[in-house]
Amino acid sequence: GREIWPVAYPRGEVRASDFRVVEVEVRQPRPGEVLVRNTWTSVDAALRLRLRETAPPGYFPAFPLEEPMDGIMTVGEVVESRADGFAPGDTVWHASGWRDYALVEAGKQALGGVGTLTKLDVDVAPPQAHLGALGANGLTAYAGLFHAADLRDGDVVWVSAAAGAVGSLAAQMAKIRGHRVIGSAGSDEKVRYLLEELGLDAAFNYKRGPLPDLLREAAPDGIDVYFDNVGGDHLEAALGALRRSGRVAICGMISEYAAKEPPHGPANLMLAVTKGLTIRGFRASGHTRLLSEMRRQVGAWVREGRLHCRETIVDGLPQAPLALAGLLRGDNTGKTLVRIDGG
Ligand code: NDP
Repeated sequence: GREIWPVAYPRGEVRASDFRVVEVEVRQPRPGEVLVRNTWTSVDAALRLRLRETAPPGYFPAFPLEEPMDGIMTVGEVVESRADGFAPGDTVWHASGWRDYALVEAGKQALGGVGTLTKLDVDVAPPQAHLGALGANGLTAYAGLFHAADLRDGDVVWVSAAAGAVGSLAAQMAKIRGHRVIGSAGSDEKVRYLLEELGLDAAFNYKRGPLPDLLREAAPDGIDVYFDNVGGDHLEAALGALRRSGRVAICGMISEYAAKEPPHGPANLMLAVTKGLTIRGFRASGHTRLLSEMRRQVGAWVREGRLHCRETIVDGLPQAPLALAGLLRGDNTGKTLVRIDGG
């Protein structure tokens, strides 16, 4: 089977030449292990944080070079099982992605608990949906909004990178709960998607002007909650627009992942004092106890047609690095996935 190994840490943009496709022998599973033929593998913004000499302190460690990357969500079919509770033909998720075949130890914690080998109910949704809305992305949006941001009735919510995997889910969840939701994204086409397909109340293209002005136009009376996927100038604009006792859920800071130098903090952080703001970072892996509640709730919203799951599909395992580069550039809408057998 094929595996994608990083061979160099990207300088700035991710390039195909930072990776290598390696052909490896697949051994038999040992007792307690399951052999999985992967079918779909996830492409995530956060991978960029681990494709560096050092990952941010407290985060998952950097991926070692010249090895398969451990900790990328994937779904596949069990080929052979030497673990209780798993049988050939089962659809599972686990965290050994970006490869054709994975040997996974049942019960072993992966990705902070989010990626531990789990059998999936494919009657609820197609397997790849478990990498997006019904998986770690759904959990991230759910935990961020309802726990970190402590969403309250009447809150006006701004979600950045709102056309992306996590952002589009967070924006729709807030909308379903009856909030006024503003989304931002990096192209006019994405803005149309936010307004016309996701039904957001307002949306803007952050490349089209000074962010504080665009935000003021979209939310003339300010915002109560900011779901931050971007950091940097976006966070600074949010601090300006937040009303008294407003809340920021820091989900990620994609604008800073490829930076060589640590970025400067927001210049207007004093507003957190004057307005009594709460700024709280969070990780999906800290909220695994919400996984079944989230799946039940989000599964129902998907079935009822209230929550839309757009996918950007890239065909063929060898294309995974280019899919990541595309995501970091903003080529994707919704969840980015690699269909492993696609080419
Ligand atoms: P997305 O599908 O949202 O793709 C990333 C998007 O970010 C791109 O499509 C692009 O869209 C936008 N973007 C890229 N660079 C910039 C920039 N400089 N300024 C503004 N927008 C930019 O990826 P994910 O859903 O995987 O990740 C979204 C965020 O969620 C990331 O910050 C990630 O780290 C975080 N995350 C956090 C988790 C947690 O547990 N806390 C778990 C999973 C993800 P555009 O065209 O709009 O620029």
